[in-house]
Amino acid sequence: MNKLPRSAYVHIPFCHRRCFYCDFAIIPLGNNVETLQGYGSKTVKEYLQFLYKEILSIKHKSPLSTIYVGGGTPSILDPKQIKELIDLFRENYGIDSGAEITMEVDPASFNDDDLNGFINAGINRFSLGAQSFNNQILQKAGRRHLREDVEKSCVWLKRKFDSGLIKSWSLDLIQNLPLSGIKEWQDDLKKAITFSPPHISIYDLTIENGTVFKKLVNLGKLKLPSDEDAFRNSESTHMILKNSGYSRYEISNYCLPSHQSRHNRVYWSGLGWWSFGQGSTSSPWGEKFTRPRVSKEYKEWVIGQYEHNIDSSLTNKDFVYKELDEKIMLGLRLKEGIDINKLFKQQNWENKTFEKNLSKLLKKWESFLKSELLVRKGNRFYLSDPKGMELSNQILISMFQWWDEIN
Ligand code: SF4
Repeated sequence: MNKLPRSAYVHIPFCHRRCFYCDFAIIPLGNNVETLQGYGSKTVKEYLQFLYKEILSIKHKSPLSTIYVGGGTPSILDPKQIKELIDLFRENYGIDSGAEITMEVDPASFNDDDLNGFINAGINRFSLGAQSFNNQILQKAGRRHLREDVEKSCVWLKRKFDSGLIKSWSLDLIQNLPLSGIKEWQDDLKKAITFSPPHISIYDLTIENGTVFKKLVNLGKLKLPSDEDAFRNSESTHMILKNSGYSRYEISNYCLPSHQSRHNRVYWSGLGWWSFGQGSTSSPWGEKFTRPRVSKEYKEWVIGQYEHNIDSSLTNKDFVYKELDEKIMLGLRLKEGIDINKLFKQQNWENKTFEKNLSKLLKKWESFLKSELLVRKGNRFYLSDPKGMELSNQILISMFQWWDEIN
């Protein structure tokens, strides 16, 4: 049997309301939700029961070295509920003594006391979904919080980190939101680094189907930063963060030394992980499986798994399935890139096929190597920073074309 996964993702789908750019599998519960006893608590408790059932249904459990509680807005939950969740893993899977246990928190959905409660429950790393410090930008994006909520959250998190109560924390921003021109974006970045977060994630805005933003785009009513502004925003990100000591270890992620997210590296490096909760995707043995995105269907699926004694770990555990194109795509997201020889060898191609396929791929990548978007050092290929990382799509598209052509 392959090695058992050592990482688990848990999806908490509750939010106060849906942000205008978001297409995640969430359940908006309104402003007055009180998950322990008051309004919305019945929905939350019922979901948690199904979630726990799913977590317990895994037959081959082994101690975890990373846990990531994401959403949604997990900080809507009461610290007691987070403790119950972490205890469930501790008692049934085991948690390594040095494990990284991350929880996503949203400004205005928690206070300093809640943070203490989450820490007592076992959380040692937080990821703060700030998105921006600019009130106009936040409102335009449908965020519920304001600048002062973000600032307060940063102060609390910084204090916890400085006093050694948590191992790390991340500040998440979205690049190229409406109204975010070069000045606004630089202001956001400069403000962010005044709190010295050990980790910063910078996500590029994408317009997803079914969102308010998509409707506004279709109506021609959403003004997004121009391509030129977007490029300048990326340059600012690179310069400001680099000059402040942050290194870009993955396309969307920057950190101070030794603060990479161990959990996220599991996704990019091709190791397996468990995943629990509606809409979440697991890949314990290489093959991905996404749970139903709608609550009712998710619950029916859990009942089916449980009643028929089906192991949620799903597939044949001796069978690792990840196509070469996906391995290349995931590897190229990382600063260190890929060892092409190593990946090709896993295909068990005969020498002639190996050479032929490699030379076809190199031909596709010739122009990117020349323009230094892609860098080659022996067998290792990686994206240049920032140029290659910004234009990674072109390189990946050419690689996917190559993969289609040779199959
Ligand atoms: S808080 Fe996060 S998960 Fe919830 S709607 Fe907004 S972006 Fe989506």
